[in-house]
Amino acid sequence: MIEMKPLQQRINTIEETICRACEYAGRKRDDVTVIAVTKQVSDERTQNVLNEGIIHLGENRPEGLIGKQQAIPQGAVWHFIGNVQSRKVKEIIERIDYLHSLDRLSLAKEIQKRAVEPVDCFVQVNVSFEESKSGLSPAETLGFIEALRDYDKIRVIGLMTMAPLTEDQDTIRKVFRGLRELRDELAAKKMQHAPVTKLSMGMSNDYSIAIEEGATHVRIGTALVGSESEGDE
Ligand SMILES: *Cc1c(COP(=O)(O)O)cnc(C)c1O
Repeated sequence: MIEMKPLQQRINTIEETICRACEYAGRKRDDVTVIAVTKQVSDERTQNVLNEGIIHLGENRPEGLIGKQQAIPQGAVWHFIGNVQSRKVKEIIERIDYLHSLDRLSLAKEIQKRAVEPVDCFVQVNVSFEESKSGLSPAETLGFIEALRDYDKIRVIGLMTMAPLTEDQDTIRKVFRGLRELRDELAAKKMQHAPVTKLSMGMSNDYSIAIEEGATHVRIGTALVGSESEGDE
């Protein structure tokens, strides 16, 4: 028997889980993009993930993004998934393919000023109303997106959320469902600058529920890339 490396085993497990969730929900596997969140692992481990064919990589800090890009100059699609301070926009905006954390006009203004090409953005929504989480309330989201009409450097391709920290699957599912319903409402407006068709939701512990509820982008860290402290590859 051929021995599989831990990384390959983790990827296989995730792939099986994704296929099962897609089947359950009557969705196509191809409609779900896996983003490997590499913020906590080394350049080497990140390169291994890429070598396994997972080309979408997520980082949440400018330094992390820039360091990884220097180590991995080609082959990856870069997603920025963390809070962005406005003064850091100029450092990252031309380096990323997707921004998952657009949550305020001041950030939009800075992107408009600094970006050369339009940036595909997800608007971050706080569906669970946890104070610790950033993001707009669902009620504010339409007004915010409408206000972005004249920002030709921003394309609102979808919504992003983080599930609350809880073991309660029903609570998590409600949050994901809430984001999907909001997405459906906004997509129906057919705004030219904001198609709002995508849903970035689901992490290591809840990506299966997220896919059942319509996620098009799952952001998977530890379950995919492992952790350096375990020493596995
Ligand atoms: C770290 C992070 C993830 C991945 O978290 P895991 O639980 O390790 O899968 C996903 N999304 C965001 C915004 C993150 O900061």
